[in-house]
Amino acid sequence: MPAIAPHQTGMEQFTGSFTQQEPIPEAAIEAAVAVMRAGRLHRYNTAPGEVAETALLEEEFAVSIGARYCLAVASGGYALACALRALGVQPGERVLTNAFTLAPVPGAIASLGAVPVFVGVTEGLVIDLDDLAAKADGVRVLLLSHMRGHICDMERLMALCETRGIAVVEDCAHTMGATWAGRPTGRWGVMGCFSTQTYKHLNSGEGGLLISDDTELMARAVLLSGSYMLYDRHRAAPPPEAFSGLRLSIPNISGRMDNLRAAILRPQLRDLAAQCARWNERYRVVERGLAATPGLALIERPGREGFVASSFQFLLPGWPAGAVHAVLARCAARGVELKWFGAPEPAGFTSRYDSWTYVPSAPMPATDRVLQGLIDMRLPLTFSLEDCALIARIIRAEVSAMYQAGLSPEGCVE
Ligand SMILES: *Cc1c(COP(=O)(O)O)cnc(C)c1O
Repeated sequence: MPAIAPHQTGMEQFTGSFTQQEPIPEAAIEAAVAVMRAGRLHRYNTAPGEVAETALLEEEFAVSIGARYCLAVASGGYALACALRALGVQPGERVLTNAFTLAPVPGAIASLGAVPVFVGVTEGLVIDLDDLAAKADGVRVLLLSHMRGHICDMERLMALCETRGIAVVEDCAHTMGATWAGRPTGRWGVMGCFSTQTYKHLNSGEGGLLISDDTELMARAVLLSGSYMLYDRHRAAPPPEAFSGLRLSIPNISGRMDNLRAAILRPQLRDLAAQCARWNERYRVVERGLAATPGLALIERPGREGFVASSFQFLLPGWPAGAVHAVLARCAARGVELKWFGAPEPAGFTSRYDSWTYVPSAPMPATDRVLQGLIDMRLPLTFSLEDCALIARIIRAEVSAMYQAGLSPEGCVE
């Protein structure tokens, strides 16, 4: 590990926490307390005439995103696996997915005994559509991850998949509230999956939402999630007759959401658009602060992408590992916590296709080149715009210093 330059007095320091989300809103706390006072936490435990919080959340999320159906489940990862099961993915079947994504995505495929086939990432941090086309033969399903909120050209992707008869399931864990060409993510593929885990755009600790317009797929998903014969208590599910041919043949793979989580989520959903705007304000401040930093490449955001930036990425293209390590250490010493997707050993959430050794995968040099220089940080809403400007100044100073020292950690002391 290269030495860190001694702390200089007057050097700006950031003291915020990159993992601290905002508190749960008061209205959500009150709704949660009401559920606990009633004692009816299970979604199918309702008093006569009562509609469960979970059913109301499903209805409201479906309306907000323009989907016919919505199912609330235990986690985002559960939603992914449930979608694949509803599509009838078989053990041993190959399923396309991103080489750059979060571990629960290939994990959902592996949970069915199916085999992930990794597709590369571009410098724009989206799925490489040429690589996708090259690997698409004989595959029925693409589990597409809008990783870190970056959305690929969805018209081109859908055309490519539709001509080949490939069903697209969207992983929207980082794109709740985001659009491509004005259409929400999750509304392009046959099913869309969202997470309400603490680090995503709504916070219930754990939780997931699955949307679709497809009646049979959604009836399967409801039964899979553990509805017993109580599916008529849903409000954003297919009508009871859609279940008649399926109700006894679909296994119950229990993964329901409960009323406590749903109660916490409903008030947050009402604030989602405003929260998304706040994330993007923070993103733009960091982006402006890092513009034209020597040695640093910003990620280009296409005009058709209506992104929601709850995290920030940039590239240190072609940097040797020692120089990246040194910049990360120097930023960390000033309170700025950066994650590196190019590290030889994954840390925190930075695992990548070649970390998941349960999957056979050939080397992907173009993808490796991008990930080698990829730096990531969270932008929680507890950061003020001034915080974001300070973070950008610290990164800019450390990256510039290292770049001007010829990317040699030893030469870099301010
Ligand atoms: C968080 C996340 C998931 C899974 O969500 P959980 O609710 O934690 O299971 C899936 N995909 C991506 C890209 C994620 O970041």
